[in-house]
Amino acid sequence: MIPFLDLGAAYRELKPQIDAAVARVLESGWYILGPEVEAFEAEWAAYCDTKCAVGLANGLDALTLALRALEIGPGDEVIVPSNTYIATWLAVSSVGATPVPVEPDAATHNIDPSLIEAAITPRTRALLPVHLYGQPADLDPILDIAQRHGLRVIEDAAQAHGAAYKGRRLGGHGDIVCWSFYPGKNLGALGDGGAITTNDSDLAARVSMLRNYGSREKYVNEVPGVNSRLDPVQAAVLRVKLKVLDDWTERRRAIAAIYLEGLKDSGLILPHVPEWVAPVWHLFVVRSTAREELQAQLVQAEIGTLIHYPIPPHMQDAYADLGFDAEAFPIARRLAQEVLSLPMGPQLDTSVVKNQIVPEILRND
Ligand SMILES: *Cc1c(COP(=O)(O)O)cnc(C)c1O
Repeated sequence: MIPFLDLGAAYRELKPQIDAAVARVLESGWYILGPEVEAFEAEWAAYCDTKCAVGLANGLDALTLALRALEIGPGDEVIVPSNTYIATWLAVSSVGATPVPVEPDAATHNIDPSLIEAAITPRTRALLPVHLYGQPADLDPILDIAQRHGLRVIEDAAQAHGAAYKGRRLGGHGDIVCWSFYPGKNLGALGDGGAITTNDSDLAARVSMLRNYGSREKYVNEVPGVNSRLDPVQAAVLRVKLKVLDDWTERRRAIAAIYLEGLKDSGLILPHVPEWVAPVWHLFVVRSTAREELQAQLVQAEIGTLIHYPIPPHMQDAYADLGFDAEAFPIARRLAQEVLSLPMGPQLDTSVVKNQIVPEILRND
């Protein structure tokens, strides 16, 4: 059996370091925020080449608190991709604002900057691009549109730890960048975790206050905040995993290179990588009009695959009240019908990819 992703193998590779890090926190007697979270925040900010990082409970909270820190709420609109994981939209609706979808460029799956301006209204407050599957969205035109229209840019980088846009790592292009450390992400904790990074220290201070009951000073509450603190045990685990992130990204790149070369004549639509991005291959997503048949064939061969994502947000019951027609966003809808994520992860052996997965996909009978 070739699993889609083997999280246990990731733990086993780092077991001595992770066990020691967890034990260090347990022994310290300090279980909320404190030195371990602060050390991770400093290391994550340095890795992303940004001034500030704030550790949070998960990626959805990172997006939600980023919106709250920018005082985006009821009556406001935020431009989001029609093609994304639903958390991007949920953050916008959870602060009472309205997600306004914009279609992707079908080649990159990321928001198409040339369609953004038509979606801007007097209520628009921010643009929220997602770096889907680990490939940066085309940020320069997005930042340019934001500047011309007086909008903020919040990036959903939950799938793109370490990815670079035009030679510079993600983390500080937009006003605020949101991260998830969900176990399956490229930098994954052993439970939930999240963060924001930003070069704006006032924004970072606001998120930091919001995550801790709206309090900067104990028992003094400025705003109705929430409890969304990064757990120090998870921070300690993330510090171990951050040390190997670049190495593990290189392994993902080696796997992607084998897929790209091995499947180039397969008839599948392969990921398109513009020359100005360095993706980190959170997922390796192919497209096929015969997606169900291919997935069934791979199930037979005991090769795990997943679909990211089968139902676009505008077609979910959760957003029935926005009243979108299923056909409102045909590119997002078509991608949802055709995408298939192949096995990808740092513990997947390149020889398995080359000698088992690729030949199985190419097998034609
Ligand atoms: C994982 C993910 C999130 C949410 O992160 P959680 O930590 O699971 O809350 C948000 N956006 C995208 C694109 C994601 O992949």
